[in-house]
Formats: sequence, structure tokens, C-alpha cells
Amino acid sequence: MITGDFIQLENEFGANNYKPLDVVLSRGQGIWVWDVEGNRYLDCLSSYSAINQGHCHPKILEAMNDQAKKLTLVSRAFRNNQLGPFYKEICELTQSHSVLPMNSGAEAVETAIKAIRKWGYMEKGVPAGKAEIIVCDNNFHGRTLTIVGFSSEAQYKEGYAPFTPGFISIPFGNTTALENAITPNTVGFLVEPIQGEGGVIVPPDGYLKSVRKICDRNNVMLILDEIQTGLGRTGKLFAEEHDDIQSDLTLVGKALSGGFYPISAVLSNKEVLGVFKPGDHGSTFGGNPLGCAVARAALRVLIEENMIKSAATLGEYFMKQLKEINSPHVKEVRGKGLLIGIELNHTAGGARRFCEALQAEGILCKETHQHVIRLAPPLIIQRENIDWVLEKIARVLNSKAKH
Ligand SMILES: *Cc1c(COP(=O)(O)O)cnc(C)c1O
Repeated sequence: MITGDFIQLENEFGANNYKPLDVVLSRGQGIWVWDVEGNRYLDCLSSYSAINQGHCHPKILEAMNDQAKKLTLVSRAFRNNQLGPFYKEICELTQSHSVLPMNSGAEAVETAIKAIRKWGYMEKGVPAGKAEIIVCDNNFHGRTLTIVGFSSEAQYKEGYAPFTPGFISIPFGNTTALENAITPNTVGFLVEPIQGEGGVIVPPDGYLKSVRKICDRNNVMLILDEIQTGLGRTGKLFAEEHDDIQSDLTLVGKALSGGFYPISAVLSNKEVLGVFKPGDHGSTFGGNPLGCAVARAALRVLIEENMIKSAATLGEYFMKQLKEINSPHVKEVRGKGLLIGIELNHTAGGARRFCEALQAEGILCKETHQHVIRLAPPLIIQRENIDWVLEKIARVLNSKAKH
């Protein structure tokens, strides 16, 4: 079968809720992926940062294979010998007090919402049913009904009402708006350190530092969604470290498994996670031995192979070089570490066609919102690979004239 045959199968039998680039991939290794016709591409999306460690990392693969032969799932009705060691290792690495494992990122977000609401009623004394959570305009926290209910993206919500009440949305990067939105019933502020899906939006310097202070003053829990920014992507283990703060709850997912397996977690704060009693919350697959073994290996290689440091230095280099590309289409280059967005002028005709042109050059990336090309290669990328990408990006940005 060739590319068109696979696409036809998807179109014939699949729900039509995605519009991927027409490339059918069948193999990946490190920063590279290959399509069914044998063409090679450099992956500059990393599955939205789930592949920070590179495709099919041999050590994670080995951990997965070993564990898959021994024990994969017992449910939380019983204990397993991967869970405790995973807890200890992730808590020590992230300086967390406590952890709750789930599967998808959205489930980690839902878990945090449940936890801080319950904390609000049990500890803060918020009247029953009145808890308020503040979120930001242009957020992305996943696709469950509760989560899309507080999205500002019309398409994410259209046709899905009614939604869960109790959320208030304010402009991202604006601390005055946060202060003004807080009431005695506010239990938490849920925010991404950098809005990834929202177009790689970097808040003003010191934003999280001020946010931390405002939350402290008002006894409001700060929940950082680091599902995309965490685990090395921005050149630190967590993006919060750029502002030298600690959240009350941190959400991780995506790269927690290096792309092998859906595993997510809510980290930290004994006080908040301590509100859960047996039976309050759960997941059949959450904390399963296979997932834990994979996550342990995925975290280990991130540190052992210096991926975080490399994301910092190479990210800085990549961004500096991108800023030097002199194209009339480019409005702004921004980001942190290896999470970079190139925002195009509206006259450029949208980012999609540039992504298609890059595909033809052997680079896979995806537009986010209409006018932003997001670049987020695996953190194991080398300088010479970046130079190779830069040359092609420069060519594409300069050759594609306005329609
Ligand atoms: C991807 C993402 C999620 C949702 O994760 P899923 O695994 O797709 O449910 C939540 N928050 C952020 C910031 C993300 O990037």
C-alpha cells in the first residue's frame, strides 16, 4: 500500500476530527521519522512535546519490553512493585511531596480540578458548591467536557453545551486581571507557563513570580499545567524554574513516557492531594506497572543524557538564528528552550502552506492557530541538525511569495 491507500482507509472508516498533513509515517528513530514510501523527515513537532527523548529511545524501549514480559496491569485493587519506586523517583527529581498518576494529560487536569475544589471545601472553608477556579483566555488544557467548557476557542466548545460551571477566564500574562478576579471563593489559578497550543505565547518576564505572590496572599492554589512545557522542553526541568517559583500542583504528561505510553501525573503539595480518601478518585490504568516502568526510564534518560541542558543551549542558538532570517512574512520569533513559535504576518496566507512546503523539504512541523509555525524538535537534536533545519526554513520563508 502507498500513502494514498492509507489515507483512503482513514477517510473511509475514521471520524473526521483531525486534518493531519498527508504523510503516513511507519518508523521513527531519534529525531527522524520515515514515511511508508521510505522518505525521511526531521520531526520538529515531537508529538506536541511527548517525544522530548526522541523516537523509540532504546533505553525506554528496553524498560518497556522488560516490563511488558513481567506484568502490565493489576488495577489499583492491588499494589505493584513499579509504583512505589516511580513515586519516589519522580518526587525526588521534581521536589514534590506527593504524586497521583493518571493516563492522559486531560485526566491530570481533571484530577487537579477535583483536588483543589475539594481542598477549597475542606480546608479553605468555601461554601458548598461555590468554588471558583480562574483560568486564562487562549488556554489549552485538553478536550474533556469540563476542560473545553472553559476554553476560549469557539471550535473546541461548539455543539457541546451545557458545560461545568465554576470557571472564570482572564487575559494571560496579566497580573492585575488575576488580582481583580479573585474572590473569597477562589480555590485555584490554572495556567500554562507558556501557552503552547495557543501559539507559543510567552508571558511577560516575572509573570509567574507575581502570580505566585498573588496566590499566596489570597490562599489560592497555583496549578501549573506543564504537560507541554515540562520535562526539559523549555531548557529547565519545569518552566516554573525560569521564574524561580514552585507551584502548588504541577501537571505532567506527554514526555513523561517519552512517547511510548499515555501516562500523566499530578505532582506535589501534600495538603491538596491529601484531601483524597480511598474511593474519591481513580483510574483503571493509572499507575500501572508498565506505565510506571516506562516513566521511570523516560525520566532517567532525560537527566542522564543531559537533554535539559542541551534544550537550553541549542534552543537559544536556534531562536537567535531564526531571528536572523530576514523574511517579509515573519512577524515575530519567540519561545523558550526548544519550544519556539514563528508568527507570520497575516499577509503570508497562513502557516499551513509553509508547513506543507517544509514537509517537501524533509521537515515535519505543524501550524498552531492560523499564523504560527511551532518548532519543537526532540531535545536530543544536535547543532548540525539545527543548521540543516535553519537552511530549509530560510529557503521556505523566503521563496513562498504572497498569493
Ligand atoms: C497536550 C496538552 C494537554 C492534554 O493532554 P492530552 O494527553 O492530549 O489529554 C493539556 N495541557 C497542555 C498544556 C497540553 O499541551
